[in-house]
Amino acid sequence: MSANSLHSLDVAHHIHPVTNLRRHERQGPIVIDRGDGIYVYDDEGREYIEAMAGLWSVGVGFGEPRLVEAATRQMSKLPYYHVFSQKAHAPSALLATKLAELAPAGLSRVFFTNSGAEANDSVIKFVWYYNNALGRTEKKKFISREGAYHGITIAAGSLTGLAGNQKGFDLPLSFARHVSRPHYYRNALPGESEAAFVERLGKELEDLILAEGPETVAAFIGEPLMGAGGVIVPPKGYWQKVQEICRKYDVLVIADEVINGFGRLGTMFGSEALGIDPDILVCSKQITSSYQPLAAVLIKDEIYQAIADQSEKLGTFGHGYTTGAHPVATAVALENLAIIEERGLVARAAAMGEYMRAGLARFADHPLVGEVRGMGLIAAVELVADKETKARFDPVGKVGLKLFDRAHDHGLIIRAIGDSIAFCPPMIITEAQIDEMLRRFKITLDEITDWVNAGMPD
Ligand code: PLP
Repeated sequence: MSANSLHSLDVAHHIHPVTNLRRHERQGPIVIDRGDGIYVYDDEGREYIEAMAGLWSVGVGFGEPRLVEAATRQMSKLPYYHVFSQKAHAPSALLATKLAELAPAGLSRVFFTNSGAEANDSVIKFVWYYNNALGRTEKKKFISREGAYHGITIAAGSLTGLAGNQKGFDLPLSFARHVSRPHYYRNALPGESEAAFVERLGKELEDLILAEGPETVAAFIGEPLMGAGGVIVPPKGYWQKVQEICRKYDVLVIADEVINGFGRLGTMFGSEALGIDPDILVCSKQITSSYQPLAAVLIKDEIYQAIADQSEKLGTFGHGYTTGAHPVATAVALENLAIIEERGLVARAAAMGEYMRAGLARFADHPLVGEVRGMGLIAAVELVADKETKARFDPVGKVGLKLFDRAHDHGLIIRAIGDSIAFCPPMIITEAQIDEMLRRFKITLDEITDWVNAGMPD
């Protein structure tokens, strides 16, 4: 590594997000240079299958010329304008309209931000503003789940339920509460049926609302299918139970579809796949296939009406971002959604997802595999030290991380969530490419198995 190589420059100056910074310094980064379809290439020309679509996000694949053209067109015409105080521009007005058309019923009002975390921060402020408008000044607490990921800003990071994003940051703040994650394989009691598990989680939620006082609980927020917490597919009836309890105590239901939205679960929104009727829905990532930073908060009209009345009373709705509703980002989103619709990528994600999950299911008998789970085109394989007892590996051995590193050597980018290995490839992936992705995974898993059997040497 020469002093001026990209690797050394990066290590010398760039602080990376969500990273063990010392490990990054020791190992140096893989510098990704370009992308094409489901593949990315590093600066030494090595090819990788991007089995995570970046960060669960590049739905239409890398190098899509129509998105480049849409960005260039908009850059030439109007590279920037804001939407504060009675200003508007075509791409954001058209995108808001398009989202209202695609979204689950009633979500007809749209607010744009630059990231998922900003969108969730905005949700908290919308809900607080709404409850203040109704004179419910105590109703401010949010309930989310352990294992949830809602972003890393101070407020959204409080909703997140992952220790790794909170340790050292004095989070969560006190408005946030967390209930158990709906992971039947891990969290069910011995002999407990799925239905009984759902009942128990429902009781936990209801008990928490009652203990806090329903007049203090504003909202429940959850990813329809939990992503970064381990690709957790909720058991049948889970969301119906959550909604029933929330409605009973006048607690808003918020679907964080930052990963689920725009086809990932084989439906346009995850709420459709899992029978959720959200009061507020958050989306991002696949909205532009992450070619541009953009997120959106979709709100039911009756909530919007109370907020709008309050803005008149207070003189303004004093919340927003300089680059929110950015014209280039919203223009790219419009083109990206057109591609998703024209190419039938939602149905394609459903079909390829079935194929991918059938392929992964063949690993279920592997001695290191505890559970294979997934829905649509998103899945995880959980590795365990003991298949029978479901005992986890000693975290010191860092089996998931080892597999993550080794996968690179075999041209595969996956994600290790602890010892759960996540797959979330671009929605354009073909059957042949899935076969190749699984072949590379198998080679890596075989190597890891040998390493485990050898006692995990350093
Ligand atoms: N919500 C969910 C469900 C996410 O998965 C993420 C990011 O992965 C976020 C929110 C935060 O989005 P961002 O990283 O754009 O802030």
